[in-house]
Amino acid sequence: MRTPEEYIEDLKKMKPNVYMEGKRVSRDHHLLMYGIRVIAKTFELAMDPKYKDLLVTKSHITGQEINRFTHIAQSPEDLLKKQEMIRKLCHITGGCIQRCMGCDAINALSVVTYEVDKAYGTDYHKNFLKYLEYFQKNDLTAAAAQTDVKGDRSLRPHQQPDPDLYVRIVKKTDEGIIVRGAKNHITMAAYADEIIVLPTRAMTEKDKDYAVAFAIPADTEGVKLITRVAYPRPRKELHCPAEVYGVGDSFVVFDDVFVPWERVFLCGEWPYAGVLAHHFANFHRHSYTGCKPAVTDIILGASVLVSEYNGIRDKPHVRSRLVELVCVGELVYAAGIASAVTSTKHPSGTQIPNVIYTNVGRRHAGVHIYREYEILTELAGGLPATLPYEDEFINPETKPYLEKYIKRKEGIPAENIHRCFRFLSDTLCSALTGVSQVAGVHGGGSPIMEEIIIAASYNFGEKKKIAEYLAGIRSSLD
Ligand SMILES: Cc1cc2nc3c(=O)[nH]c(=O)nc-3n(C[C@H](O)[C@H](O)[C@H](O)COP(=O)(O)OP(=O)(O)OC[C@H]3O[C@@H](n4cnc5c(N)ncnc54)[C@H](O)[C@@H]3O)c2cc1C
Repeated sequence: MRTPEEYIEDLKKMKPNVYMEGKRVSRDHHLLMYGIRVIAKTFELAMDPKYKDLLVTKSHITGQEINRFTHIAQSPEDLLKKQEMIRKLCHITGGCIQRCMGCDAINALSVVTYEVDKAYGTDYHKNFLKYLEYFQKNDLTAAAAQTDVKGDRSLRPHQQPDPDLYVRIVKKTDEGIIVRGAKNHITMAAYADEIIVLPTRAMTEKDKDYAVAFAIPADTEGVKLITRVAYPRPRKELHCPAEVYGVGDSFVVFDDVFVPWERVFLCGEWPYAGVLAHHFANFHRHSYTGCKPAVTDIILGASVLVSEYNGIRDKPHVRSRLVELVCVGELVYAAGIASAVTSTKHPSGTQIPNVIYTNVGRRHAGVHIYREYEILTELAGGLPATLPYEDEFINPETKPYLEKYIKRKEGIPAENIHRCFRFLSDTLCSALTGVSQVAGVHGGGSPIMEEIIIAASYNFGEKKKIAEYLAGIRSSLD
């Protein structure tokens, strides 16, 4: 397994194809470091005996110790451990752990390459297993590039006036394929070793050139990573763990990129585009049942702290709001547990989370995210929005006033109150907050997408039978 230092050194060796602030930058740019530090934690903690059980497991193909983020789930316990690991790591980094994306992509590919080979006699699964061994042995990180730019949402890929609005195969050669198009919103693409490309939706036969999945090094010729980073407001003296972590998302452009056959995992088998999109969404939404409860934990912890500092912790409305937060976070986590416990073994050996529980969990998180921020806003009062700059807490002319007038409950030092509200200001009113809120709705699929999957997968007929039986319309429940 790699050390965090090795991961960072390997990034520095990559060809510069990240674009930020109007120029091409290398992967040691100071803004990228916000996301790099998050990923580096996943290497660092794997070496820490306290976290080893969570972060280290055995490869089912080589028997070697590997980082859990490179593992293919083989049992319900694997899924439970992944969920627990994600919740824990998100506490440590104060938000999205990001590395789950690549893990969910390889899990989905392990299932779908197997199925496509069975249906078409292709070699995708064999190639995928070789790639997986390389991925695990080198302890790689991958961004999952699923979301196409999509153009007019009411049109299928082949119907778009510009044929490049979904990533497509433009040429096949003896050596591989050439792809063109763009994916957007791709988290960690600018500081991942690899980019794994998956279809974003179900396709028809006319869309077969868009039914494509592959993995490439993130600095492959023709790949352009147009990136923006969300990060907390920089601190001057009042340093804290949360200030060093952020997230970079990229527009990933594929300008006629060559992919060798051994790294192609779907190429024109259009009926499986939707199957792959669906499996990735299922694994990824299961990961969300780990990270979204962690976001709730952060909001809940901040709500408890500020209520104490404000002297309102024992008020009935505060208790009610705190319990509301517990209900959101723990129900989403419980959905992930239920999904793991009732998961099924695919013939490829991969353990597949229960699709109903992952989707009800992810939807529940998505529809409540703004309510959770609303609760913290309500309990915190207005100061997160109007807190003076840190400089005024440092300037000897204004410092004594601020230290006197920021005081709240007796016995709480002014510095702690200042720390609490600066953290709340970052949590409620910063650019990073806006990104986290939109991610809370759309990341991993908007609630409407979970509703589509639930409506398509749920056995409504079974429920109708119960009503028919109880109403005397049918004689038994069988
Ligand atoms: C912070 C963040 C990080 C992300 N990270 C990643 C990542 O790492 N990898 C990745 O692949 N994706 C990522 N995503 C993308 C995420 O999955 C998408 O944002 C989500 O799937 C919605 O797609 P969209 O943004 O294109 O919105 P749209 O699809 O444009 O949705 C906008 C609205 O239009 C509706 N709509 C869209 N199409 C139709 C239709 N045909 N019929 C009816 N209604 C329709 C939607 O329901 C929604 O209400 C990320 C998103 C965010 C915000």
